[in-house]
Amino acid sequence: MNKKLRKAVIAGNWKMNKTRPEAFDLIEAIKPLAANADCEVVVCVPFTNLETAVNAVKGTNIRVGAQNCHFEKSGAFTGEISADMLAELGVEYVVLGHSERRQYFAETDETVNKRLKAALAAGLKPIVCVGELLWERECGITDEVLGKQCKLDFYGISADDMRKTVIAYEPVWAIGTGKTATAEQAEEACAYIRSVIAKLFGKDVADAVTVQYGGSMNAKNAAELLSKENVDGGLIGGASLKAPDFGEIIKAANG
Ligand code: PEP
Repeated sequence: MNKKLRKAVIAGNWKMNKTRPEAFDLIEAIKPLAANADCEVVVCVPFTNLETAVNAVKGTNIRVGAQNCHFEKSGAFTGEISADMLAELGVEYVVLGHSERRQYFAETDETVNKRLKAALAAGLKPIVCVGELLWERECGITDEVLGKQCKLDFYGISADDMRKTVIAYEPVWAIGTGKTATAEQAEEACAYIRSVIAKLFGKDVADAVTVQYGGSMNAKNAAELLSKENVDGGLIGGASLKAPDFGEIIKAANG
């Protein structure tokens, strides 16, 4: 396994935050902090901010992502947005299967898998979130949970498409709670996920695939987490809403 084969991806998940003027201001503040980044910098903004964000990042190295997409191309799905609609807008990334979607919006591994296929078909780069509940960790079944999610979420995709997919290891107990996994726990889980990908898609794909850590990553703990061999970046919620903090995480990813 070789960390140097992979480019770190530092992605902010803004969740349901920021109006359009606020989004514009935050991107303007992030621009200079991302300007010399070795890593890929992504802002995953609410649907209403996508066009603002796509225009604001023109000519910079910041990429724009959405936080979900529907699996059908079009049709009677009130309130939903298709992958094609995102791609047409100039969006490059899309977060799929975030634990908040799984918890509050009945998202399942089956629908994550369908959304993943739709996103890949539209040419988007998916960031697929997997992770165990606290109860599952306490019961000692973290590996089983991660293995099952990877098998189901990535079912039926090609090795080439797997290479284009970013995996975010997000222990559910660490999201928005201020409780971060230790760097050792993050490394262990990310390495396990990579071993599952190796079994499913081969070692070359596993070596190439980006596996991020997400869960209360911040300006203080980022460097230690990102120093781990199998942690290739971060999916960051709360700390991505403060430009200086997000800037520190980008700096930590640059090494
Ligand atoms: C997230 O939203 O994916 C996340 C990791 O949130 P936070 O950084 O706030 O825990």
